[in-house]
Amino acid sequence: MTQKWIADRSDSFDSSGIRKVFDLAAKLENPINLSIGQPDFPVPEEVQQSAIEAITSGKNGYTPTQGMPVLREKLQAEVDEMYGHDDREVFVTSGTSGGLVLALMALVNPGEEVIVFDPYFVMYEPLVKMVGGKCVLIDTYPDFRIDVAKVEAAITPNTKMIMANSPANPTGSVASAEDQRQLAELAARHNLVLVSDEIYRHFCYDGPFSSPAEFNEQTLVLDGFSKSHAMTGWRLGFAHGPREIIQTMAKLQQYTFVCAPQPAQWAGAVAMDVDVSPLMADYRRKRDMLLAGLEGHYEVTKPGGAFYAFPKAPGDESGSDFVARAIDRGLLIIPGNIFSRRDTHFRISYAAEDSVIERGIEVLQELAK
Ligand code: PMP
Repeated sequence: MTQKWIADRSDSFDSSGIRKVFDLAAKLENPINLSIGQPDFPVPEEVQQSAIEAITSGKNGYTPTQGMPVLREKLQAEVDEMYGHDDREVFVTSGTSGGLVLALMALVNPGEEVIVFDPYFVMYEPLVKMVGGKCVLIDTYPDFRIDVAKVEAAITPNTKMIMANSPANPTGSVASAEDQRQLAELAARHNLVLVSDEIYRHFCYDGPFSSPAEFNEQTLVLDGFSKSHAMTGWRLGFAHGPREIIQTMAKLQQYTFVCAPQPAQWAGAVAMDVDVSPLMADYRRKRDMLLAGLEGHYEVTKPGGAFYAFPKAPGDESGSDFVARAIDRGLLIIPGNIFSRRDTHFRISYAAEDSVIERGIEVLQELAK
């Protein structure tokens, strides 16, 4: 074969880093698994029942591209009540990931720059490359806060979008209302699209969640049910923002994902009425338990949300060398260089049973010696 089959756009990034971790993990028997990016609680019972009922009563076909009215209208009412923006439309996506893909396809031309905060969620960089865009990374170590002056300095005539994520994966960092306001105003001043990935919105432990959409009516928000209701496999998300953007994303969805699964949409409408605050309170307790276990052993910025902590590897050891040592001891965690240009930290997920977190803390304390 002389012809190259794989398109350049897909050749420009790989998944070798993540694969390496899973290859190492596959060798482990009964691992202490603190690597998982999904909640360990079950889908709330009434949500499960609603999906079953939808399936058995024949609600299995395609839905309108924008989503079933039962869910979309309920989401629209919630968003209207939260923001009261005249031009804020909602539509249902195939997971938050689906919303990310459509947002980038709808908004980023080849050669345009997207500002991303490092460390970042793994999908951001490959997705930007897939649409021909260029990631401009803003380093946020060691406290993982948004420094608006740094963002402003990174803006060029080619800058199109800022990608924000609070509470954040992999750091657990939560942006304050003041930081969100400054970022939102900066985006407005430079006429940049501000995308806010709010999938961990419910997981805020030290204060209320704040969205940049409160301060910039044109913010495009991506959200979903994967984390808050443990529905990762159901592929249900939603996006809200200026009508022109939402309509374009919906048009693209028509030719790609088509729609989110119909049974999941009926169940999503029920999920909206579930009080998840007890689940969040339990995760806050897990966060505190993990932090207490790390204290005095690791440098770690207190994570205010999501279900991750992102400590620094001890001494001068790289994050990936440290993780290899942890995996040797049966502890599965993720090296920071999967989410970052730096290889100095590692991600712990505390979305696990207490006994697993306890075993993890024991190993981590030994490894720090
Ligand atoms: N954004 C962030 C920051 C995430 O951590 C994840 C899931 N790991 C997603 C988006 C994608 O979530 P979904 O299951 O809704 O596609």
